[in-house]
Amino acid sequence: MENYEEIISPIQHECTSKDYTWKCVEYAWQIRRLRLQIQSGDPYEDGYSAEIDVKFCPFCGYKTI
Ligand SMILES: [Zn+2]
Repeated sequence: MENYEEIISPIQHECTSKDYTWKCVEYAWQIRRLRLQIQSGDPYEDGYSAEIDVKFCPFCGYKTI
């Protein structure tokens, strides 16, 4: 896992599913846009990744303003 304990975090919200496949993020520079990201394997090799905009976090229920 990466460490996001920076003084100014670019991540406004972040949740990860238990199997680490799904991630729900809101970036500080794109506030109010919550997205669900899926990543499987290495996207540069045989894996893939995709992104879906969502209204709330399916893991903790967090909502954008
Ligand atoms: Zn969440």
